[in-house]
Amino acid sequence: MFVRKYKTMQTHARVVIIGGGMMGVGLLYHLLLEGWTDCMLIEKAALTSGSTWHAAGQCPSFIANYNMAKIHHYSNTLYPKLEAMTGHPTGWHGCGGIRLATRPEDIDYFHLVKGIAANVGFRMEIISPDEIRKINPFLQLHGVYAGAWTLDDGHVDPSSCCNAMAAAARKLGGTISLYNRVTGVRQLPNGEFEVQSEKGNIICEHLVNAAGCYADKVGAWLGVHIPFVNMKHQYVVTEEIPEFAARDVELPVTRDPSASAYYRQEQNSGLIGLYERSNTREAWPSSGPAWASESELFPVEYGPIMPWLERVMERMPILADAGIIRVVNGAISHTIDSNPLLGPAPGVRNFWLCTGSSIGIAQGAGSGKYLAQWMVHGASEINMLAFDPRRFGSYADRAYTEAKAHQEYWDMYDMQLPGEERLAGRPKRITPLYETLKAKGCVHGEAVGWERPKWFSPDGRKEQPGFCRNNVFEVVAAECRAVRERVGVMELPSFSKFEVTGPDAEAFLNRVTANRTPTRIGGIALTHALNDNGRIQTEFTITRLAADRFYLLSGAYAHLRDLDLLNQSKLAGEQVTITDITNDYSVLIVAGPRSRELLAQLTDQDLTNASFRWLTGKEISVAGVVVRALRVNYVGELGWELHVPMAQVATLYQAIWAAGEPLGIADFGLYAMNSLRLEKGYAGWGVELTNEITPVEAGIERFVKLDKEFVGKAAVLKAQRDGVAIKMAYVEVAANDADVYGGEPVWADDQVIGVTTSGGYGHTVQKSLAFVYVLPEYAKPGTQFAIEILGKRCAAQVLTGPVHDPQNQRLRV
Ligand SMILES: Cc1cc2nc3c(=O)[nH]c(=O)nc-3n(C[C@H](O)[C@H](O)[C@H](O)COP(=O)(O)OP(=O)(O)OC[C@H]3O[C@@H](n4cnc5c(N)ncnc54)[C@H](O)[C@@H]3O)c2cc1C
Repeated sequence: MFVRKYKTMQTHARVVIIGGGMMGVGLLYHLLLEGWTDCMLIEKAALTSGSTWHAAGQCPSFIANYNMAKIHHYSNTLYPKLEAMTGHPTGWHGCGGIRLATRPEDIDYFHLVKGIAANVGFRMEIISPDEIRKINPFLQLHGVYAGAWTLDDGHVDPSSCCNAMAAAARKLGGTISLYNRVTGVRQLPNGEFEVQSEKGNIICEHLVNAAGCYADKVGAWLGVHIPFVNMKHQYVVTEEIPEFAARDVELPVTRDPSASAYYRQEQNSGLIGLYERSNTREAWPSSGPAWASESELFPVEYGPIMPWLERVMERMPILADAGIIRVVNGAISHTIDSNPLLGPAPGVRNFWLCTGSSIGIAQGAGSGKYLAQWMVHGASEINMLAFDPRRFGSYADRAYTEAKAHQEYWDMYDMQLPGEERLAGRPKRITPLYETLKAKGCVHGEAVGWERPKWFSPDGRKEQPGFCRNNVFEVVAAECRAVRERVGVMELPSFSKFEVTGPDAEAFLNRVTANRTPTRIGGIALTHALNDNGRIQTEFTITRLAADRFYLLSGAYAHLRDLDLLNQSKLAGEQVTITDITNDYSVLIVAGPRSRELLAQLTDQDLTNASFRWLTGKEISVAGVVVRALRVNYVGELGWELHVPMAQVATLYQAIWAAGEPLGIADFGLYAMNSLRLEKGYAGWGVELTNEITPVEAGIERFVKLDKEFVGKAAVLKAQRDGVAIKMAYVEVAANDADVYGGEPVWADDQVIGVTTSGGYGHTVQKSLAFVYVLPEYAKPGTQFAIEILGKRCAAQVLTGPVHDPQNQRLRV
């Protein structure tokens, strides 16, 4: 009798990864490279039998997000050498790509990405239609303004490439268990996970969900909702084209926004992938794929792609002459913002997500590298905020996620310009003031579902989106002047808000954050939570409400991250309670030299400097509404943030407006706030202050108290002792009609010496301003270099301090 012998499966591993597609395998390989040898990947069928095997295999480097571009670039440097490294074929074709500019404003985008390329290290040229024609003589270039030619990308055979990476992982000692479905997971009281699989149970310290289209099913075992949708996506393959066969050099992949399509040579055939912009369909009902599903494809659906296919045929008629021999209709994940989910799952320590990618072949290796750094070393060398799964919250329900995912799919080739709003799923999170502000011309932008004022249209004008200063420039200038000269009011409901209470609350906050927790009741401190590497995790404004009660504020995108950070920092037996009150309060910012005069009309509270000084918070009654009034703001003026119970925000706003009208009150929005904070030299969390850097690089050591113990102190001391590789600098730019956007290269002669993080125009100081990270020798005040904005090098000079009110006099009056 034949008896099948199974090798007994190991029962413990440091890491278990569920899912053997490009993302899971990419992570396995890089965990091993980073030094964690005891890692196991479990796949329910063969490797790549989810979405990976049927992908078209393109690996573009044209990416407009600085950090995502690094992920792609890393993959594009690894894949070409993987075959030589492992002896396994990868099917790498380094044919490059050309993206067509079909709107004039695309050229600005190309310059932005070219700047990113200079920093990240991939080659890119902006070429004319004539030059495009020389490279690809089969294209009809009507309506094409230019091409973005990226020379270091190409395409792989996804299955071969994934298997080559798996071979590399096995060589380093990684274990891969195939044809073994994980059937359940539970977290044990000691925090480890018991992973139940068809071949036995495994206990692990870290668990990774890389289950692709099944990610929500796997997440559900641990109560984690994963906001993404499995869309259907199709590409077609044509018969052989003799003209392709006759060529010596493979054509670059064409990316064509006018057809919402990519097309390329596949051997001697054509391959055309289409992102239809209506009638998009989901792969399965919301229950997702069946566990038994394996290498699943769907029947061909020509209807939705036909109009787009016709456009491709017009653009490259040679493809129309060949018959279609194969159509691949497969499942592809899309998240709310099309970025993958890379990082800790919300609420469950040591449960990680490596999923949700819609360009997962290109992103597999790079995602694996940077996520592995985060898991092994506690921080990645790139800013992972845009990929952190905790950037979404419970507001991201099914309907919202679906609306967003469909829009993201439609817009795969439609570059979103600054100022352009995408409306799917909106409005999602609004306050009782929303309609009132809208009726006053407020133009909202969205962050973590919240609608937030960007600017107020005085005459019904609509913003002309783009990278250059536009038709809202003067409107924003007027909002800025109102705040500097009179008084402005703005609703900003999106702060993350927590209460930390209990007998150990002060000691807890002093340990978790680097600045001193305020000692006096009503005291306010700005402080940063660091990790063991001294890198900035978050920025809290802490107000002491009572001896054992603190009110914490942080950024909108930090909400679930900070909840995890606070909850997971508690020591056994520590008497601390953390309460999330984000949705309980909205915030009205009342700022400007006349803000005291205004508020004094509405409260009995003494608002004079003697009794309500800067960096003080009190519970007071304003217009009969009890608010938490904090004398702080991000615009650098005398002013208060009024944290008002959500239901009463409209009442309070009306009272403030009525009292403010004789004083010249004006509404203002985030555009003005950004301009004002730049004038004041305030760095932003998530932009300047990120997981990549310590307070030493950011030059914010004044917020770090080295005479106490706190998480990350040793690393801060080390950075001070050893020096740092980059430093933040605040600069004035001789810009013309466009200001720094973020991600632009900083040049000294012909060397890239840094990168911008954010910038804009300081309307009341009439200067273009920016933050940059540069080599330390370039960070000294007075140093000059150039910043490349939309292809033009603009002179820049490091400033000594804030251009507006460097002594903080206006805050202290
Ligand atoms: C038509 C089409 C063309 C595409 N073209 C490109 C392209 O050109 N470039 C590009 O970058 N991307 C492309 N994509 C997208 C790409 O296919 C995906 O982004 C990528 O494959 C996702 O990889 P993954 O590892 O996250 O998921 P998957 O490849 O789906 O891997 C997840 C794995 O988890 C396994 N699994 C799930 N649950 C369990 C469990 N309980 N136990 C054990 N195993 C489990 C599954 O069997 C599966 O193998 C394309 C997609 C489609 C549909």
